[in-house]
Amino acid sequence: RAKKSLAQNYEYYHAELEDQMAERLALLRRLRQDFSQDKLALWYQPQISLSDNKVIGMEALLRWPDGQGGYISPAVFIPLAEYSGLIVEIGDWVIRQACQQIRYLAEQGLEPLRIAVNVSMPQFRSPYFVKSVIEAVQASQIDPQLLELEITESVVMDEPKIVIEALNQLKTYGIKVAIDDFGIGFSSLSYLQQLPLDRIKVDRAFVRDFAKPNGAVIAETIVSLGKRLGLSTIAEGIETPEQAAAVKAMGCDEVQGFMYAKPMPTPDLLAFIRNWQP
Ligand code: C2E
Ligand code: MG
Ligand code: MG
Ligand code: MG
Repeated sequence: RAKKSLAQNYEYYHAELEDQMAERLALLRRLRQDFSQDKLALWYQPQISLSDNKVIGMEALLRWPDGQGGYISPAVFIPLAEYSGLIVEIGDWVIRQACQQIRYLAEQGLEPLRIAVNVSMPQFRSPYFVKSVIEAVQASQIDPQLLELEITESVVMDEPKIVIEALNQLKTYGIKVAIDDFGIGFSSLSYLQQLPLDRIKVDRAFVRDFAKPNGAVIAETIVSLGKRLGLSTIAEGIETPEQAAAVKAMGCDEVQGFMYAKPMPTPDLLAFIRNWQP
């Protein structure tokens, strides 16, 4: 293979970068269009209480159909939506949709179920965020305690003052707050006391490590830290009965993972909850 000159290499990488950017822009354009045409869907993954094995709620997760029977991963389009600011509108829709879902499930005769939604940093930067969340709760006439906002450590780190203030206002109104993917970010532990938290979500990276020597130490520490702070704890990414038994032994309160159910659309969710045997 002929050795390329530095200039040739530069040309090559430059072209490749341009291709990548064009591709991302095209994807963003499609996302914007599909969102405006109401093609995005919200799916739900059940969350189960370990003390009585009941479904106590679910996490709402966005799904973007690729038009060929599959879905484009949130790991691909959420960063794009965040970068472009489109997540502010999409996130608003997600919260309104989740509130309507809480009401809908109650109307189906189910016991009150909580729904957790993921919230990104650009949403907190919007001056209308707090107002729009409260309006969504009021419009659906649901108990605000059934709505939970999931934030990651990176959201807190980005602009702690803005996030803490918004969450305090929402907390006063009754809305719940969970810290998501806890332990994989770089936030300082002191935020655990500064944020008005209700729940810590142990990241699935730690659950995956259980089989390794000392693999459960971090999850154990997070659960006991949560307990000592008076917070409820939930482990995500539970795929096996061994993992479920391990987090239960640690004193973790709730679980979520493929072992119980994958995220699913509303009709499947209803059937799942109705058929669930604690
Ligand atoms: P997350 O909030 O940590 O959500 C949990 C992710 O783990 C989901 O991936 C879920 O399908 C997956 N998961 C759950 N149980 C298991 C398991 O047992 N094994 C494995 N391997 N995976 C499991 P998903 O739906 O692809 O979402 C990825 C991420 O995209 C979410 O991570 C969240 O950060 C983001 N996201 C999804 N929906 C929204 C949204 O409406 N708004 C925002 N801002 N972000 C969202
Ligand atoms: Mg989440
Ligand atoms: Mg998570
Ligand atoms: Mg995650």
